[in-house]
Amino acid sequence: MRERIDLTIDQQSRDAGEAFATAHEPARALYIHVPFCFHKCHYCDFYSFVDTQDRQAPFVDALERELAHLAPHAAGAPLRSIFVGGGTPSLLRPDLWTRLLASLRARFDLSDPSLEFTVECNPETVTPELMGILHSGGVNRVSIGAQSFDAAHLKTLERWHDPDNVERAVALASGAGIPRRSIDLIFGVPGESLASWRADLARALALARRPDGVEHLSCYALTYEPNTAMTARLRRGEFAPVDEDEEADMLLATVETLREAGLERYEVSNFARPGGECRHNLGYWRQEQWLAAGPSASAHLAGFRWKNVPRLTDWMEGVNASGLSPVTDFERPDPARALAERLMTGLRLREGLPAEEMLARAGALGAEDALRRAVDRAQARDLMRSDRGRWTLTDSAWLLADGIASELMQAVWRPA
Ligand code: SF4
Repeated sequence: MRERIDLTIDQQSRDAGEAFATAHEPARALYIHVPFCFHKCHYCDFYSFVDTQDRQAPFVDALERELAHLAPHAAGAPLRSIFVGGGTPSLLRPDLWTRLLASLRARFDLSDPSLEFTVECNPETVTPELMGILHSGGVNRVSIGAQSFDAAHLKTLERWHDPDNVERAVALASGAGIPRRSIDLIFGVPGESLASWRADLARALALARRPDGVEHLSCYALTYEPNTAMTARLRRGEFAPVDEDEEADMLLATVETLREAGLERYEVSNFARPGGECRHNLGYWRQEQWLAAGPSASAHLAGFRWKNVPRLTDWMEGVNASGLSPVTDFERPDPARALAERLMTGLRLREGLPAEEMLARAGALGAEDALRRAVDRAQARDLMRSDRGRWTLTDSAWLLADGIASELMQAVWRPA
């Protein structure tokens, strides 16, 4: 059973402060959420809204205050990763980016030579000026929301960029000296066929083959989140979703095509050249610690986790009043749930799970035998293998990752 601490935002903010105090290791990762977008895409359930420009400066003022509050909890240790996501962070004005980057440099130790510093960008908002500012400020990775190279599918998704601007954006980032570049693609868009998805993959591959192209691709199946406008339209029968078998074929085509180009699948939806994996996201899947700033951003520290309040005005008022992150959903998953979640996210990774550690944690819950049996069953069905002390999925089992993870989870945790 999870320990849900249902307190006021003020009290939860103070609790989050105490979680910082009990952390044994300094946090080495930081997520920053920028909520502004050019347009609200109807499939999107991230906290974001249409930018009216007038809120950008007060947002950055509050962000600087929040970063000042968070910085001591990195305890002077060099950060390993920063990820600025959204929303559309590249919509922030260049002068505000300059301020934000200076603020990060002043408050955090960014001296680790292997620091990964990613900013998400929309292709339309990538300019030589912005890329130059990001590069000078230490950003060494951009993740560009391409979604599709087909104008009709972009229209269905309500993404309004010109597909040709994806290559242009990648070239501008490369030209500015940003060494690591990634694009996101979505498949299973209503009206999309396997042939049109293959055409998207071909455009992505052409970029992956160029030295000034991309080293990393994220390929997500379109999901219909409960409270989005697109899901409401689906329920009203305004369009038909892509057939499940066809979507599975699209995923298989993705894995085969990208592997031929040297991009290995290192997570269910993520592909990279060796060494090009997104280290920040690996930290989420390995359930490491991270700090979080900005409205709706989630943090994980010392076994606790929480979210900043989502509404921009609530978040700004909270930060401006106390300097603390205004926190909601503060909770400490009990050890059984924490292990179940580790099994779920770890099995999504090619590197898999450390068997001894998982068994030891299950043993502390009296569930070691149950976990062993669940793994044995999956191995007997050729869905999992044990190799050099790690449990991983077999190639044919990736499509079934969630179901297999669910069986392992049930061995150690029963939701109340
Ligand atoms: S640009 Fe991205 S974050 Fe913004 S509304 Fe569209 S999908 Fe959501």
